Amino acid sequence: MIKEKINIPVYVKNDGMCAGLAEKEYGSLKESTNGIFLGIGTGIGTAVFIQGKLVEQIRSAGHMIIERNGKKCGCGKNGCYEAYASMQVLKNNIREYFKDGTLTSEEILEILKNQDNINKVEDIIKEYIEYLAIGISNMSRICSADTIAIGGSFVHYQEILFGRLLDELDRIMIPLEKEQTKVKLAKFDNNAGIIGATLIK
Ligand SMILES: [Zn+2]
Repeated sequence: MIKEKINIPVYVKNDGMCAGLAEKEYGSLKESTNGIFLGIGTGIGTAVFIQGKLVEQIRSAGHMIIERNGKKCGCGKNGCYEAYASMQVLKNNIREYFKDGTLTSEEILEILKNQDNINKVEDIIKEYIEYLAIGISNMSRICSADTIAIGGSFVHYQEILFGRLLDELDRIMIPLEKEQTKVKLAKFDNNAGIIGATLIK
């Protein structure tokens, strides 16, 4: 329909895969052979590159089950990764704790930065990081990834979350996985999808 209106070629691709393409071409997966992009935002976007090529069939890491009898996910299943480890979930958990559904992303960032004397907030972050790390460890092992790039709005919270994530991965991953996989922040944040869309062939 769009093509009919503007009369130039039009392509459609999943946003997580577009973001992954941007990281592979210009960003933190550039040097990688077997690399994974995980876009941690409203949900969890996925792009997997094996031997340098995007594998279209491997998608939706956000919907692998990581919790038995877990929370209902938007996809209809229970216990999906993104029902525990998306940025949206972390933000909603903070909103729930403060009983304030109007807290903006910026206000939540400030709360997380100044959480030292609120034990409950630290507990929320800790639980979130534990779930996030489980999925990263799973993906690392399944795909024998040399690099996993973490992007999406997670990048905006990196100073609070990224160090904790690396510590948790160090705790749960076995030496083989740690040796094999480097976990990095993505180069691009929410613009990655737009940049990657220019690379669709
Ligand atoms: Zn799901």
